[in-house]
Amino acid sequence: MKVLGLIGGMSWESSAQYYRLINEGVRAARGPTASAQCLLWSFDFSAIEALQHKGDWASLEALMTDAGRKLAGAGAEALVICTNTMHLMADAVETAAGVPLLHIADPTGAAVKAAGIGTVGLLGTAFTMEQGFYKDRLATRHGLDVLVPEAEDRALVHRVIYEELVAGVVLEESREAYRGVIERLVARGAEAVILGCTEIMLLVGQSDSAVPLFDTTSLHAAAAVELALN
Ligand code: GLU
Repeated sequence: MKVLGLIGGMSWESSAQYYRLINEGVRAARGPTASAQCLLWSFDFSAIEALQHKGDWASLEALMTDAGRKLAGAGAEALVICTNTMHLMADAVETAAGVPLLHIADPTGAAVKAAGIGTVGLLGTAFTMEQGFYKDRLATRHGLDVLVPEAEDRALVHRVIYEELVAGVVLEESREAYRGVIERLVARGAEAVILGCTEIMLLVGQSDSAVPLFDTTSLHAAAAVELALN
C-alpha cells in the first residue's frame, strides 16, 4: 500500500471526512483491520482564508509547496490536496514535492462523463467558480460544458462555505437556499451538479436535488484509495 500525503485543514471539517472515507475504503478492500497509511499536513485555515480573500496567491503557493515538500520528505508517495480551491496551485505543489498528485477534478470529471452527462453545474468557492483552473480542466480533459450559478447565487454559495460550513455550522435555511441554486442551474440546462467544495457534502445530499450530484470529497477519497492500493 502506498503512503498518501494529505494536504488538509482547509477546512479540517472536510479533512476529517477525507480521513474517514479513505480509511473506510481501505477497510472495504482489504478487510476489517486494514487502514490507510497516510500523513496529514493540516493548516490553520484562518491564515489560509485571510490570504485567499486578500488575493495573495503567491504566499499561498509558497505555503502549499512547502507542505507538499514536507510530506514527500516524510515518506508520502502520492499527494492529495483536500480542497478544490487550492488546486489553483496543484501543478506547483506536484513539481515542488516530486511525487504524483491526484487532481480532484479528474476523478470528478471522469465520473460525470461515465454517467453520460455533457452539461454540468458547478458549486464551489468564488475562486473555483470564477477562475479558470477548475472549469477549464473539466472542459479540456473531460469534455464537459460547465455552468456556474449567476452572480448573486455565487455570492450566496461562497458566503455559506466561509461563514458556516468551514466553521462546522450546518443550517436548514442554507440547505434550502442551496436547493434553489441547484434548481436554477437545472433550469439553465445542467444535467447534474458538481459539489466542487469539499464541505458542501456536509450541507446537501442527493435528496436535495432533482439531478445527480457529484461530491468531490467522496470521489477524490475513493480515487485516493484506488491509487494507494493499486
Ligand atoms: N474546502 C473548500 C474547497 O473545496 C473551500 C476551502 C478552501 O478555500 O480551501 O474549495
